[in-house]
Amino acid sequence: MNPKADLIIEDADILITNLASPADPLGRVRGGSVVVAGEHILAAGPSEQISAGIDLEEARRLSAAGRIVAPGFVDSHTHLVFGGSRVQEYAAKMHLSTEAIQALGIPTGILASVEMTRRETADQLFESAVHRLDQMLAHGTTTVESKSGYGLSLEHELKMLEVNRRLNEHLQVDVISTFLGAHAVPPDVSRAKYVDEIVLEMIPAVAEAGLAQFCDVYCDEGYFTLDDARRILEAGRTAGLGLKIHTDQYSDLGGAHMAAELGVTSADHLNYTAPETIRELAAEGVTGVLMPLIDFAVRHPKPFNAQAMREEGLQLALATDLCPGCWMVSMPLVIQFAARLHGFSVEAGLRAATVGGARALGLDDRGVLAPGMLADIQIWDLPTVEDLIYRLGSNPVTAVIKRGQVVRGSGGG
Ligand code: ZN
Repeated sequence: MNPKADLIIEDADILITNLASPADPLGRVRGGSVVVAGEHILAAGPSEQISAGIDLEEARRLSAAGRIVAPGFVDSHTHLVFGGSRVQEYAAKMHLSTEAIQALGIPTGILASVEMTRRETADQLFESAVHRLDQMLAHGTTTVESKSGYGLSLEHELKMLEVNRRLNEHLQVDVISTFLGAHAVPPDVSRAKYVDEIVLEMIPAVAEAGLAQFCDVYCDEGYFTLDDARRILEAGRTAGLGLKIHTDQYSDLGGAHMAAELGVTSADHLNYTAPETIRELAAEGVTGVLMPLIDFAVRHPKPFNAQAMREEGLQLALATDLCPGCWMVSMPLVIQFAARLHGFSVEAGLRAATVGGARALGLDDRGVLAPGMLADIQIWDLPTVEDLIYRLGSNPVTAVIKRGQVVRGSGGG
């Protein structure tokens, strides 16, 4: 008996499979269709051959005529859950120094968001995150990583992670939860004491409650030292969590070198990482997560060096870094910035935003449109793939399919 399909997305002008070949890293099929059964892809390929051996009788038909079909985006680094907003700080810093902004009494930085996040209930945090997540989905994102790190106490970190759990359960987007208790040192505790608290209390409690897949640490000048970061990551690993690190964003404390040694899943930011350290990361199979919009939002004096990363063969992911300092929901805009500012071809940008993002989360079931993969798919109203980086700031997404369900819009044609 032939397998039964639930959905066919048919007659796309271009189907981007991401099945790389030497001739085409995007594995493009001109005139392509995708057949879905349940949450997974049954077949993807040329439209005229797609129905062979498949029962399409009861399948819903979604026309993609005149459209491009691509894997959903995987946004592998966000701070999606936070209380309040730092719009006043952002607007003021367009023309004022940090000192002048503080003199005006405008709260700034991570600790300002910690205060606003502690004040809100889980329900309030959930509501504002849902709104952002909805916009991300509308821009084609089907998997989002979401970090804690604005609680900085056991109670409030658990509250944030609980919001991640609810987002994952109640919304169509998959939310991968990361514990980032080591985002900053809270104002009322010494760094040493806080690191003890993270290692001895918070990580075991988070792992016990099953509220996070990853443990992350901000290893940088003014945040956590190399020794702190190593202790925290080792405790995370012992508790069974995957490892991530924010490192080398504003200084080189040796965090990326340690990340290679520990074999973390991803090392993120990497503004100050030397080429030889990038080589070490590449050799250990670490994914480098790059976020051009945070460098833009903070007007970073030293944007990351993607050219060196490409030369060293580092696997790359592109992400939004959505956070109170960078209110960014659009992966197309991330790819546009990566292309124009960092020399990403449209092909490299797209791969980094899909299959690269999946690797940064240790996921091998998405980012590629092929049999057996999750049916996480988006449809664009664009005449060519290159228009994705050409039409600056526009959202090309007309439909999104998540785990086989049409959750946004409809087809084309
Ligand atoms: Zn971050």
